[in-house]
Amino acid sequence: MSFFREDFTARSASVRVRFGAGIRAAVSEEMDNLGVSRALILTTPQQSDMADEFANYCGAKAVGRFTGAAMHTPVDVSEQATDLARRLGADVLISVGGGSTTGLGKAIALRTDLPQIVVPTTYAGSEATGILGQTENGVKTTLTSAKVQPEVILYDAELVATLPLSMTVTSALNAMAHAAEGLYARDRSPISSLMAVEGLRAFRDSLPKVLADPGNLTARGETLYGAWLCGTVLGQVGMALHHKLCHTLGGSFDLPHAETHAIILPHAIAFNASAVPDLLAPLADLFGTSSGFGAGTGLWQFAKSAGAPLSLRDLGLVEADLDRATDLATANPYWNPRPVTKDGIRRLLQAAWAGDRPDI
Ligand code: NAD
Repeated sequence: MSFFREDFTARSASVRVRFGAGIRAAVSEEMDNLGVSRALILTTPQQSDMADEFANYCGAKAVGRFTGAAMHTPVDVSEQATDLARRLGADVLISVGGGSTTGLGKAIALRTDLPQIVVPTTYAGSEATGILGQTENGVKTTLTSAKVQPEVILYDAELVATLPLSMTVTSALNAMAHAAEGLYARDRSPISSLMAVEGLRAFRDSLPKVLADPGNLTARGETLYGAWLCGTVLGQVGMALHHKLCHTLGGSFDLPHAETHAIILPHAIAFNASAVPDLLAPLADLFGTSSGFGAGTGLWQFAKSAGAPLSLRDLGLVEADLDRATDLATANPYWNPRPVTKDGIRRLLQAAWAGDRPDI
């Protein structure tokens, strides 16, 4: 199939990306390339040992560490870390971790314009976007700015080799959601669609190999390649129903980010598949057609065979919350390839809550 469109705008950020098992040791060299010499290293408390490791790579060029990155990028944490960056005279941020740590680096960059070197340890893909979600007083807001786009990404397969298998699966499906919704984005370009399909293919082929042998660095490297492509799609085009539902469930019911994405994805894609079958045909071809499945059922089957969580009930959502979730997810109109109706969303959520296989 062709991804040609008669009218499109393509945009891409200027980012230096390096892949390789062990490439994290090149962080000091990357600081030299950027012309910087005072690094603040960022991690979550759970990954503080990574801060020690990176301080060793940087030697005297590491001027401090902040190991308090937290889920949903709380503004008070970002302000504390920004104060520290200013007090230390840091001239670069090194973020080592998943989307939460990358989010903290972006939040500091927004306030200081410091360059960022990101070393991802999950597949969330935030490192490839100029998007920042922040929370203050329980309210999450999202902004897009060139200031928060990281300058350098080091994708090191050794760092995801230790990602627990359950996180490996949910994080992969979280990444795949960016590409799946990118296929029907109104502002997609031929390049974003090519990246989306290749990102989905990379996960389809490499995730089963990783699950069979979590230490397989070639397969782990290919999952990171998928994460980069899917994250880049997220940075280039707008998202729709799937992301709106996950945002609602995460924000209002405190459901965990990656697991929620993993459960909702097949249902959101099945919902939209009837409206844009041609645009989702590459996804159906990758996951379904040869076994008689469609885009949504194929993704559901893939998630199931990878051992992903399949029901919102298992995340602790109670059935009585589905009406409120429907109201919240349909309160403000937003673009989606298929009109978003209360009835349709209520049925989608019921199926996702129960863990049923979608229809298409
Ligand atoms: P995370 O960064 O919150 O990490 C979850 C936990 O796993 C943390 O405790 C972390 O320390 C730990 N962890 C990370 N990598 C590990 C590894 N290799 N081994 C062992 N433990 C590891 O989770 P996430 O799913 O990567 O990120 C989710 C956040 O990222 C959400 O807040 C989401 O909104 C955001 N996000 C933002 C964008 C964007 O473009 N702005 C894109 C995707 C996700």
